[in-house]
Amino acid sequence: MDSSSRWYLLLFLVHFICAHAGIVVGASVSGSERFLQMSKESEFFEWMVDIRRRIHLNPELGYEEFQTSELVRKELDRMGISYKHPIAVTGVVGFVGTGKPPFVALRADMDALALQESVEWEYKSKVPGKMHACGHDAHVAMLLGAAKILQEHKNELKGTAVLLFQPAEEGGGGAKKMIQAGAVDNVDAIFGLHVATDVPIGMVSSRTGAIMAGSGFFEAIISGKGGHAAIPQHTIDPIVAASNVIVSLQHLVSREADPLDSQVVTVAKFQGGGAFNVIPDSVTIGGTFRAFSNESFFQLKQRIEEVIVAQASVHRCSAMVSFLNEEQPFFPVTVNDDTLYALFKKVAEGILGSGNVRAQHPVMGAEDFAFYNEVIPKTFYYFLGMQNESNGLLRPGHSPYFTVNEQVLPFGAALHASLAIQYLLEENTSHGSSHDEL
Ligand SMILES: [Zn+2]
Ligand SMILES: [Zn+2]
Repeated sequence: MDSSSRWYLLLFLVHFICAHAGIVVGASVSGSERFLQMSKESEFFEWMVDIRRRIHLNPELGYEEFQTSELVRKELDRMGISYKHPIAVTGVVGFVGTGKPPFVALRADMDALALQESVEWEYKSKVPGKMHACGHDAHVAMLLGAAKILQEHKNELKGTAVLLFQPAEEGGGGAKKMIQAGAVDNVDAIFGLHVATDVPIGMVSSRTGAIMAGSGFFEAIISGKGGHAAIPQHTIDPIVAASNVIVSLQHLVSREADPLDSQVVTVAKFQGGGAFNVIPDSVTIGGTFRAFSNESFFQLKQRIEEVIVAQASVHRCSAMVSFLNEEQPFFPVTVNDDTLYALFKKVAEGILGSGNVRAQHPVMGAEDFAFYNEVIPKTFYYFLGMQNESNGLLRPGHSPYFTVNEQVLPFGAALHASLAIQYLLEENTSHGSSHDEL
């Protein structure tokens, strides 16, 4: 036996002894490791895989998640978990624990995307033009997994876990509608996760403070006077006006924003004209803007409107600007609470091992989870790794080739359940029964 073999043997023995003596790093974290073991057991794991695949086969868009919602309710019924329904059309809110404060929420989104699946496999979407290409099918399966763990350990809950199965994350503002329906009225803290294709399996990634940007859309109709393309002096050309508007919009981030305060203005839509020899009456442009604070976000919004209107007028055109926030509400910034980050780190390290909680850079993507920031005192959002390089790189979310590494399901279920239990435990220890006074 060479010296490296001896090391492996020693490591194996240490691992074996720790595993079988029930030694958990960070012993104050209750249950974390046993929950992962429980959800990895074949019957439990296959049950979650089956749920995820059934949802994947039958994807439903925002506010149309009727069958997904029914599947969730059937599973909750089987577990003997009470719930409210309908909330925000298809939403389901389950309750596990004492039924009394404190309340901690766990959130899963249920909607699919309007996208044709290009992955050829047994459980390929059977609905043309619709696909679970963001992993929300896995999110539902993991929250049901957590529900099962919590229900089987309900005597350990020092309060109530609120299970939010929400509709319409993909632009429909489902979280906002859940809030308006009173789903989180008494909730003190909420945890949300998203599967990530660029984080290794068995790892999580998050940060304190702002993690995802606030986001809005804009559209402008720039109107001039159409006419013959060979006689421009008799027209007011909205194509040239719109082109200058687009160039001027680039200066909002490059010249007006603090370089250390990340922001985006993108014009992604330009529609105007239909012939080689006709100047059109009008041009429509549109796009998105992103920022990491409300102040920067609303400053951008104001300047986008000013620049479009003023620059159009330079070219004798008029402009009508709309921010479309009736149909597509502005997404606030997703901000993580410092104390929940500390709790998350402790719980995740207890489950995954230290070194498997990665620091996450803020991303310019937006999440409707951010609406919960506006009404729940403490919110926390994290990414859950699915990447396994030996199986090839995973395509990113919203790709028709997106796939879920189903090995992720036990991690999500165990993390959800452990975070809820640990939050309630610590909340009780630090505040005693103060909530009962409410
Ligand atoms: Zn998505
Ligand atoms: Zn998503």
